[in-house]
Amino acid sequence: MKEIFLLKLGEIVLKGANKRQFESKLRQNIRRRMKAYGNFDVYLIQSTVYVEPMDDACDIDGAWEACSSIFGVVSLCRCRPCEKNMDAIFNAVEEYLGDDLDCAKSFKVESKRSDKRFPMTSIAISQEIGGRLAEAHPQVAVDVHNPDYTVYVEIRDLAAYVHGPAQPGAGGLPTGVGGRAMCLLSGGIDSPVAAYMIAKRGVEIECVHFFSYPYTSQLAKDKVLELARLVTRYSGRMTVDIVSFTEIQEAIRDNCPEEFFTLIMRRFMMEIAQTIAKKHGCGALITGENLGQVASQTMEAMTVTGAVVDIPVFMPLVGMDKEEIVTIARKIGTLETSILPYEDCCTVFTPKHPKTKPTLGQVINAERNLDREALIQKALESVEKVTVKYHDEPGI
Ligand code: ATP
Ligand code: MG
Repeated sequence: MKEIFLLKLGEIVLKGANKRQFESKLRQNIRRRMKAYGNFDVYLIQSTVYVEPMDDACDIDGAWEACSSIFGVVSLCRCRPCEKNMDAIFNAVEEYLGDDLDCAKSFKVESKRSDKRFPMTSIAISQEIGGRLAEAHPQVAVDVHNPDYTVYVEIRDLAAYVHGPAQPGAGGLPTGVGGRAMCLLSGGIDSPVAAYMIAKRGVEIECVHFFSYPYTSQLAKDKVLELARLVTRYSGRMTVDIVSFTEIQEAIRDNCPEEFFTLIMRRFMMEIAQTIAKKHGCGALITGENLGQVASQTMEAMTVTGAVVDIPVFMPLVGMDKEEIVTIARKIGTLETSILPYEDCCTVFTPKHPKTKPTLGQVINAERNLDREALIQKALESVEKVTVKYHDEPGI
């Protein structure tokens, strides 16, 4: 008998008037993600999404893995559906969870009855199934307060479902309900985590990367594209715009005081990113900036770099410690790629003594020998667009 997944919705349930729209977006996202794993039926009843394989060719483990990275799902479980009578429920628990139960020291049964037409209360269901299981597994103790293992029985409209403990979902809001934003993606640890965190709030992500060939290598570019691909596991497919930054960096090196190099460079990045963002319908920029991490990430430096843009700049890592950021990078699977030792364009032409408390006036003065508009125009003409997706299969 087959297995099906139940995905429980998180914050969406609290959304009041927008709930319908959020739910239908989530269902649509799950359907799209499941396409790569075979023929699945995806339907939503009472704030739970059912993901049901329709034939034997379905890749159940692949689909399960994918479901655990879909935003908007707070928890998920693999279950066995069965008929809504006590014999069928007991047999389903025995067949489907019997081995897990044998490995536990103690257990309890927890039941939920959302189909109120079912004649027994949830307490009575737990007592009867628990009693029958205790007889069948005399070596496993019943412990209703602090059990080693919990058997869940859910009596729903279409069927009864039995399952073991649920797994936490990816949380957040369904991709697409929060608009679209453009992340300035470097090859470091921070910016992929920043993209993930904003994606988690239901935002579609696009990325822009500044590339300084020949100062930075093809390998450095491939690394950034791989980081983008790893983020698409959560965010869905994205476009990465690769901007040639060499000429701008050389112009800064040749025409500006060294202590302002990084700040001026970052102002170019922000302005170019904003122009591309607006073209793509993105309503905000995202960076991996973190207060006090480096000289260009002081409040004064942020004022100077923020001055060239007029859309919000999201910095989800601004108040976090490095260790906290690394923990998320590890969890989402970007850390190993981020720590590969390729150079970034920020590390080329780094000033020995960067200005940590710049004023806007000083920086504008330091830029006076540059033709900003012409340099930006030329960089925009150099853009190479790459579409990045997690799998090669259609649908993701
Ligand atoms: P990261 O770990 O994300 O590289 P960082 O701590 O190295 O961050 P900086 O190099 O100062 O910090 O960059 C700050 C932010 O500027 C980055 O998080 C990223 O959003 C953006 N950024 C830096 N370099 C690039 C680049 N080459 N292309 C696109 N964005 C960049
Ligand atoms: Mg960096």
